[in-house]
Amino acid sequence: MSANLTHADWQRLAGELSFETRAYIGDAFVEAASGETFEAINPATGQRLARVASCDAADVEAAVGHARAAFNRGDWSRLAPGARKQAMLRLAALMEMHINELALLDTLDMGKPIGSSLGDMAGAIGCIRYNAETIDKLYGEVAPTGEESLGLVLREPLGVVGSIVPWNFPLMMTAWKIGPALAAGNSVILKPSEKSPLSALRLARLAQEAGLPAGVFQVLPGFGHTAGKALALSMDVDCLSFTGSTGVGKQLMQYAGQSNLKRVYLECGGKSPNLVFADCRDLDAVARHAAEAIFHNQGEVCIAGSRLLVENSIREAFVERVLAHAETMQPGDPLDPASFMGAIVDATQHARILDYIRQGVAEGANLRTGGQAVSPVAGGLFVAPTVFDNVTPQMAIGREEVFGPVLAVFGFDSEEQAVALANDSEYGLAAGLWSQDIDRIMRVSRRLHSGQVFVNNWAGGDMTVPFGGVKQSGNGRDKSHHSLAEYSELKTVWMSLAT
Ligand code: NAD
Repeated sequence: MSANLTHADWQRLAGELSFETRAYIGDAFVEAASGETFEAINPATGQRLARVASCDAADVEAAVGHARAAFNRGDWSRLAPGARKQAMLRLAALMEMHINELALLDTLDMGKPIGSSLGDMAGAIGCIRYNAETIDKLYGEVAPTGEESLGLVLREPLGVVGSIVPWNFPLMMTAWKIGPALAAGNSVILKPSEKSPLSALRLARLAQEAGLPAGVFQVLPGFGHTAGKALALSMDVDCLSFTGSTGVGKQLMQYAGQSNLKRVYLECGGKSPNLVFADCRDLDAVARHAAEAIFHNQGEVCIAGSRLLVENSIREAFVERVLAHAETMQPGDPLDPASFMGAIVDATQHARILDYIRQGVAEGANLRTGGQAVSPVAGGLFVAPTVFDNVTPQMAIGREEVFGPVLAVFGFDSEEQAVALANDSEYGLAAGLWSQDIDRIMRVSRRLHSGQVFVNNWAGGDMTVPFGGVKQSGNGRDKSHHSLAEYSELKTVWMSLAT
C-alpha cells in the first residue's frame, strides 16, 4: 500500500500526524522531571514539529530503577524464551501495521526521503522478527568432561542495557540494538538522538500495546551530555550499546571506566573505500552503484562509500559516468517518493558539510560537480551531490568523515597501491571492491582491514550476517545471532557427580 502513495498522499498524512513527545518511564508517558523540553525541527522546511521532553540525570535514575526492578522481578528476564518471542512478534506486527506513520516520523524528524524511510522500517521490523525467532533456538553447552562431572555453559541476560543511537537511521539503529537485547531477556533503556526522537517514542507506545512488562523497554529523549552521559555513568547499567561518532564512543569507554566497568559495544564512524579495478564487469552500472554508495541518505551513512579508488587506466571514463549518475540524484522534497536525496539533518551538519567542501577546494582537490547548498524546498537544508577528483590522503576530505554527499576520488596504478590507500585510515567499517578476477577478489578481500567487504555490490547483506567495524570504527557487531551473544553472559555450572 505504501508503494502506491503519491507525494500529495504523504503530504496529507504528514499534516494529520500527531506526536508523542513525553518520555516513557516505567509504564507511563511522562514529562522530564525538570520540565525541560527541546525542539524537534523538520530540516526540509525549517518548521517546528514539536517540543520534546528533555530528560537528564534524574529521569535516568528513575528509569534505571524501573529497569532493575523489572529485571529482578523476572517477568521478562526469566520468562521462557518462547514467550518472549511471542511478545516481540506482536511488537513487529504492530510496527508493520503502523509502518507509514513510523516512516513519516523519521522523514519529518531528520529529512531522509520517504522511500528510504520505508526501507528502514522494513529492516527494523525484520530485525525484531529475526531476534524473536532466534531466541528459542540457541542452546547452551555441555562441556566435554569425565563421567564424574557435568559442566554446563549457560547463557544469561546481562541485566540493564543502555542503548544510545544516532539520527541517521533512527528506528533501524534502534531495532538493531533493542532487538537482540530484549530477546536475550534484558531490560533496555533507549536514548534516541536529540535530532530524531519521535519514532522511538511512538515505538514505546507500540511496545506497551504488545505487552512488554513495565520497565523492560523505556525511552528517554534528551541530549548526549545530559541523559546520555548519565546513562553511561550509571552504576546500575550493565552494558552500553552505542551507535554514533568515534569521539563520543571514546567518551563512553571513559565513562564505563569511571563507573562500574560496564560492557561497551561501539558502532562508530567510517571513511569507507570503494575500489574499482579496470576489469570490473560493467563500467556504467558500477559507476551508478558508486554514486549511490555515497549519495544514499544524503551521504549521512556510516558505511557511505566516501572514498572512491579507481584504477587510473579507466579513471576519467569512470568519473564521467559517476558525474552523470550524480546528476540524477539531486535532492528533493523528502515527502516525494521520487526523491533520491532529502534534507541534511540540521543547520550544524549542513554548515559542517559546506565547510569540508571549502577545505577540499582550498587544499587543491578538483571539484567536478556540486559543492553548494540548494533549495528544492523553501526553508530547507539541502546540499547538491558533490564529487572531488585528485584527492590525496592528506586532505581533510580524503581522511575525515564528512557525513554528507561528498565523494573523494583517488587514482591508483596497482593492486598493492589500492590496498595501501584503502587501509590508510583510522577507520575500518566497510570496503568495496569491483573486479571479475576471483584471485584478486580473494586476495584483496582478505587484505582490506575492515569489518565488512562488499564484492561487486555496495552495502549488501541481511539479518544473517554481522555488521560492525574494526579500528576506530568500533568493536561491536549488530545483526545476526552474533549480536544476540553480545547481550548475554556465559555462566559455568560445574557439578561433581562422584560424591
Ligand atoms: P553522535 O556521536 O554525535 O551521537 C550519537 C548519540 O550519542 C546521540 O544519541 C547523542 O545524543 C549521544 N551522545 C552524544 N554525546 C554523548 C555523551 N557525552 N554521552 C552519552 N551520549 C552522548 O553521532 P550522530 O551525529 O548522532 O551520528 C553520526 C555518527 O554515527 C557518524 O559518525 C556515523 O558514522 C555514526 N554511525 C555509525 C553506524 C555504525 O553502525 N557503525 C551507524 C550509523 C551511524
